[in-house]
Amino acid sequence: MKVDITTTDTLVVGAGQAGIAMSEHLTRQGVPHLVLERDRVAESWRTRRWDSLVANGPAWHDRFPGMEFPAMSPDDFVPKEQVADYFEAYARHFEAPVRTGVDVTRVTPNQGRPGFTVETSDGTIEAQRVVAATGAFQTPVIPSIAPRDVRLTQLHTADYRNPEQLPDGAVLVVGAGSSGTQVAAELNRAGRKVYLSVGPHSRPPRAYRGRDFVWWLGVLGEWDNEVRTPGSEHVTIAVTGARGGYTIDFRRLAEEGVTLVGRTEKFDAGVAHFAPDLRANLDAGDANYLSMLDGADAYAERNGLELPLEPEARIIPPDPECVVNPLADLDLARAGITTIIWATGFSQDYAWLEVDAFDDSGRPSHQRGVASEPGIYFLGLPWLSRRGSSFIWGVWHDAKHIADHIAKMRGYLAHYDAIEAVSTAPERAAPFDSRTQRVS
Ligand SMILES: Cc1cc2nc3c(=O)[nH]c(=O)nc-3n(C[C@H](O)[C@H](O)[C@H](O)COP(=O)(O)OP(=O)(O)OC[C@H]3O[C@@H](n4cnc5c(N)ncnc54)[C@H](O)[C@@H]3O)c2cc1C
Repeated sequence: MKVDITTTDTLVVGAGQAGIAMSEHLTRQGVPHLVLERDRVAESWRTRRWDSLVANGPAWHDRFPGMEFPAMSPDDFVPKEQVADYFEAYARHFEAPVRTGVDVTRVTPNQGRPGFTVETSDGTIEAQRVVAATGAFQTPVIPSIAPRDVRLTQLHTADYRNPEQLPDGAVLVVGAGSSGTQVAAELNRAGRKVYLSVGPHSRPPRAYRGRDFVWWLGVLGEWDNEVRTPGSEHVTIAVTGARGGYTIDFRRLAEEGVTLVGRTEKFDAGVAHFAPDLRANLDAGDANYLSMLDGADAYAERNGLELPLEPEARIIPPDPECVVNPLADLDLARAGITTIIWATGFSQDYAWLEVDAFDDSGRPSHQRGVASEPGIYFLGLPWLSRRGSSFIWGVWHDAKHIADHIAKMRGYLAHYDAIEAVSTAPERAAPFDSRTQRVS
């Protein structure tokens, strides 16, 4: 029997922003490669987000260095469809070798020869290297405390689209990072009664003294932090670019009608139980917010920046009733709750990657994306190299590092190959390229 086997130097799995950035840097390095995508380019931005989502950072910042957002003011927050269009256009402009509609189902190391065998929905590929760029926000996580009550509609923010999608009634949103807070605010504006369960978070000011927070985090070096502050592992960031962008202020949300509750601990016989940590979580969020203002003020003074003063940014509104007397529990039926929305994050699925690149708990084992199994790379993971790693602007720099590493490894391997090729054959070996051959 004859089978078509495509060979390539580097196979990139996934054509979201990580895969596209990877392809750009491999192209610059002259590394033959293929990008395989099971859906469409930037599918996550197109179909795995709610309808009203806009980028959390302004257009001048949440982009790759090589292209600006067309027809967009640099300070605008780009709607998700246009983010997807941007990455499609970006891939086209350097003719990224992307094949869409191809699912990578299995990657195994070759035995007794270098490289990997890659099984896909469209045949087999032999690759010297594989970059897993399949996304960090891939598999929605709903914690095991979720009640088993068939009368309740329960969904993850990955499946939330708009308020009309939900049955009539009040909504409990669990999780108050960017997703939970934005969804809660949208539902509240749509006239729903909303309960928002708030855990540990940071909530930077949208802008301070005339500069967006993404700029402050940049100049203060915070996007480049290489390690998390100890104890902040479970702290989520609450920001929004919705409606032109504004600072997330939980007390203001409460003034607008949202009932804040502490971290959701369990459900029991139709009753939700909350941790007595609402005040502490809000206080820690405020402290983080104020420390950012301090850092910004110190930076402005040190550099003699004449930015407008903004003392009102330091005013924390008084605690609303739901913070003064927080609910310890809530009878869901009595409160009219018909829907629970889980804004509880994502996990990754690397079941297709059968290589020795994971630690005992199944997490990718790597250094700045270079996996413990030689030839395997991870890209797009939170804190891959720094705080900015899973974001649009950060992944581009991580992809550059990985492409440099790949080029370096190819250099080592080519050194003796070249000497041996000269000693055994008069003509030079053909450069390694992506190609398909028929083998018996
Ligand atoms: C709600 C939300 C809002 C966000 N907002 C912002 C923001 O405003 N600014 C910002 O910088 N970041 C934001 N992020 C973070 C991050 O930028 C996005 O999640 C982004 O989509 C990650 O890009 P990626 O390429 O790493 O992964 P993805 O975009 O998820 O791309 C991975 C691709 O791999 C494909 N794939 C997966 N498995 C396989 C397989 N086995 N074979 C073939 N293909 C496969 C998928 O179909 C997908 O297209 C947000 C994240 C979320 C969840």
